[in-house]
Amino acid sequence: MSKRLMSKNSQNELSKPKKHWSMGLVESMKDADLIYKDSDRIVVIRDKYPKAKIHFLVLPKENITSIYKLTTKDVALLQEFGEILKMIQIEHKNHHLNAGFHAVPSMQRLHMHIISKDMVSPCLKTKVHWNSFTTALFKPYNDVLEELKKYGSIKEVANEEYKTLKSAPLKCNQCSYVPKNIPQLKEHLLTHL
Ligand code: AMP
Ligand code: ZN
Repeated sequence: MSKRLMSKNSQNELSKPKKHWSMGLVESMKDADLIYKDSDRIVVIRDKYPKAKIHFLVLPKENITSIYKLTTKDVALLQEFGEILKMIQIEHKNHHLNAGFHAVPSMQRLHMHIISKDMVSPCLKTKVHWNSFTTALFKPYNDVLEELKKYGSIKEVANEEYKTLKSAPLKCNQCSYVPKNIPQLKEHLLTHL
């Protein structure tokens, strides 16, 4: 179709540069339906594809792409993440919440997951989803804060270790049960509710 035959609106749509999917969190930080809390430096949003009954993401307004870009000057920012975590834990007293960062994140903009340990959600579908929250691929908040204070940076996980952990055998995060597959694991998780 020639440009002359297009409506003004569709011309505008075409001229907008399309955002890469990995920028989705930066868009969601502006979405009033997803925002849960907001401060001068931080936004907390609801995860759009939650992997448990409670699943929030804590993000800085400053454009820090990942934990691997953190430096000593960001210790105070990370401590603010901890204060928000405490607040959210108080608000959800009846749930055990874990907080941490994925060693190999898929989305841009630093984000801390706050996720309930039940891991009961229709969005939890794959072994990679499971292992990214239940193995060393999930770096607990306190460990990241301590590493940053001690070394001034966060060490990246080696590619070989990443491959091993993401394909590690499934294991329940609340008991010693070893399911054969994801449907079995999901059924089992309901017994812990
Ligand atoms: P990761 O980068 O692996 O640490 O995790 C990214 C998280 O962002 C996942 O838990 C996704 O469910 C979530 N997610 C993906 N796209 C969006 C979006 N557009 N808005 C909010 N959450 C998202
Ligand atoms: Zn179990």
